[in-house]
Amino acid sequence: MSTVNKLSTKAIEVDIAIIGGGSAGITLAAKLNNFSTVIVEPHTPSERDCSWALWAKPDQQTELIYATKGSWREWRLIDHHTEVRHISDQYRYMSLSSAQYIADCENRLASSVELIRASANNIVSEGSGGSFVSDDRHYSAANLYDSRPPKVPDDSLKQHFLGWDIRTKTPICDAEIATLMDFRVDQSRGLHFMYALPFSDRRLLIESTMISSSLEDKEWYRTAIRQWLKQQNIEIEETLGEEAGVIPMESVRPPNDNLTRIGAASGAVRLSSGYAFSGIQGQINKLVQGINRGDFSVPAPISPALLRMDKIFNGVLMTQPELGVSLMMRTAKALDGNGFARFMLGGATCLDWAKVILAMPKIPFLKQVLRL
Ligand SMILES: Cc1cc2nc3c(=O)[nH]c(=O)nc-3n(C[C@H](O)[C@H](O)[C@H](O)COP(=O)(O)OP(=O)(O)OC[C@H]3O[C@@H](n4cnc5c(N)ncnc54)[C@H](O)[C@@H]3O)c2cc1C
Repeated sequence: MSTVNKLSTKAIEVDIAIIGGGSAGITLAAKLNNFSTVIVEPHTPSERDCSWALWAKPDQQTELIYATKGSWREWRLIDHHTEVRHISDQYRYMSLSSAQYIADCENRLASSVELIRASANNIVSEGSGGSFVSDDRHYSAANLYDSRPPKVPDDSLKQHFLGWDIRTKTPICDAEIATLMDFRVDQSRGLHFMYALPFSDRRLLIESTMISSSLEDKEWYRTAIRQWLKQQNIEIEETLGEEAGVIPMESVRPPNDNLTRIGAASGAVRLSSGYAFSGIQGQINKLVQGINRGDFSVPAPISPALLRMDKIFNGVLMTQPELGVSLMMRTAKALDGNGFARFMLGGATCLDWAKVILAMPKIPFLKQVLRL
C-alpha cells in the first residue's frame, strides 16, 4: 500500500482517487479507511444544496435522520379523475438535504482520505487508475473513480424541473401527505406534474416537473407553480430557495476515455423515475465490500433486467407521450404502498411486476418490446 507523497515536483501517488464529491463520490470516500485516498470536489456542501428523496426502511431512516428535511408514511398521485393514496408500514418517503448528507460524510473522512477543494483537470486513465492535476499538483492513482455528471444529450428524454421552498401564509391542508405527482397541470409540452412535499404545515417544497426531451424556459415552470398554488389556495409568505435540475432518462454514454465511473455517470439513475440515491448507495456499498477484498471493479448499479424494463417503459413514453399520465396512475393503482416503494427502489417482487404488467395497456408495450 502506498503512502501519500507530498513532493510537488513529481506526481503524488495514491491508492485511490475519486473525482467529484457528490452523492456517489463522498459516500465512497466516507467508507474508505485502509487506503491512501484523495477526493476532489470544487464545491462546498452548501453551494450545492438540493433535496434528495428516497423510500427508506427503518434502519436507513435512523441512519439518515441528521440530514432528513421531512419524511412521510403516506403519499399520493392525482390526475383529473382520481387520487391514489398509499400508506406503507415498511417504508417512509424521505427528503434529505444533500448539503447535510455531504457535510456529514466530509466530517467522517478517515485520516487516510484527503479532500481537495478544487477541480480535477487533465484526467487521463492509466490501467484501472489514472492521473490528473488539481490545485496545481499532479496526482497519480492506482485506482481512479470518476463521478463527474454525465452529459445529457439535447434530444434525449429527461426529467427536468424547477422548484421552490416556500413558507406559506396559512397552514397547508394534508401536511402529513407527500404529493409525488399531481397531473392536474398543463400537459401540452410533455408529461408534466407537480411534486409537493410539506415539511411542516407552513413549509412546502413545490416543484414543476416535466418528462420530455426539451427543456422549458425557467419562467414556464415558475408560472406552473404559481397556478398550482392558486388552485390549492396556498399563498406564499416567503420564498426560501429555488432549485432546478435535469436528470437523464436515457442510458448514459460516457466518452470513450477508459475512465472507471461511479454514480449517475455509471448509469445509477433509474431511467423510468429519475431516482438515483438508493441505487448509488447500493452500488457504493458493494464496491467498498469488493475493495476490502482486493476487487476494485465497479458493480452495475441497476440489473440488466430492470434496465430493460425501464427502457421499454420510457420507449412507450417517448412514442406515445399522451399515455404518460395513465401509465403512472395505473402503476400506482396496481400496487399498495409497500409494493410501490419496492417498485420505485428497483426491488419489486415477481408479484409486484405481474400486477404492474397486467395493469398496463398491452398493445403499446408489445409494440415497444418488438422495437427494442
Ligand atoms: C437538483 C437535483 C435533484 C435530484 N433529486 C433527486 C432525488 O430526489 N432523488 C434521487 O434519488 N435522485 C435525485 N437526483 C438525481 C441525482 O443525479 C443523484 O441523486 C445524485 O446527485 C447523483 O450523484 P453522483 O455522485 O453521481 O453525481 P453528483 O451528485 O452530481 O456529483 C458529481 C460531483 O462531481 C463534481 N465535479 C464535476 N466536475 C468536476 C471536476 N472536474 N473535478 C472535480 N469534481 C467535479 C460536481 O461538483 C459534483 O459535486 C437529483 C438531481 C438533481 C440535479
